[in-house]
Amino acid sequence: MTSQMLNLATWIHCTTAEGPGKRFALWVQGCAIRCPGCCNPEMFSNAPKHLKPIDEVLNMILTAKDERDIEGVTILGGEPFSQARPLVALTTQLKQHDLSVMVFTGFQREELEMRTDGEPELIEQCDILVDGPYIQEQHTQSRRWIGSENQRVHFLTSRYQDTEDWEKPNTVEITFDGKELEISGFPMWQKQIEAWKRVLQKREESQKKS
Ligand code: SF4
Repeated sequence: MTSQMLNLATWIHCTTAEGPGKRFALWVQGCAIRCPGCCNPEMFSNAPKHLKPIDEVLNMILTAKDERDIEGVTILGGEPFSQARPLVALTTQLKQHDLSVMVFTGFQREELEMRTDGEPELIEQCDILVDGPYIQEQHTQSRRWIGSENQRVHFLTSRYQDTEDWEKPNTVEITFDGKELEISGFPMWQKQIEAWKRVLQKREESQKKS
């Protein structure tokens, strides 16, 4: 086990809208790329949002595996490769529990492979890596899980090479389990998503007060 910390923006315990099958989705906080039109601008800042030890994040994910039968974890953001070292520690343990790993990055794979701060090691942990920045002018809704035409999908293991999910259009998923409202997937209607985010924010504020 390790005491490394992750700066997280938010997470969802189980979704089918952020990769193949049922998955835990983890949004990291902080992205220096700042693509115009990014749907998560609140995740640009590197300021601590939810600072969590790797062990605690791993426990949340393993609980989701037991209770919700997730098959993997999707890491997005924010920019996951800006926190490559702690994510290597996390994903190494996920693999030991037979959980698949899918990571979205705004950088190009070739650029990350040249870096020396854990980036090549994180690529090695990925079953699927989606790379490249979001380019507003190349926006698409027809590539599942992907925002713009330039972004590439690298199947780095054989685990999902035959998935047909890839061919389906993008989706958005909203779940409410009586306690938590969770939104995931691709924001087809930006205004509605923003309204849902405000609802979540108000719920968070009222929970803090109570
Ligand atoms: S790389 Fe991703 S998180 Fe960062 S600005 Fe671009 S779309 Fe947003």
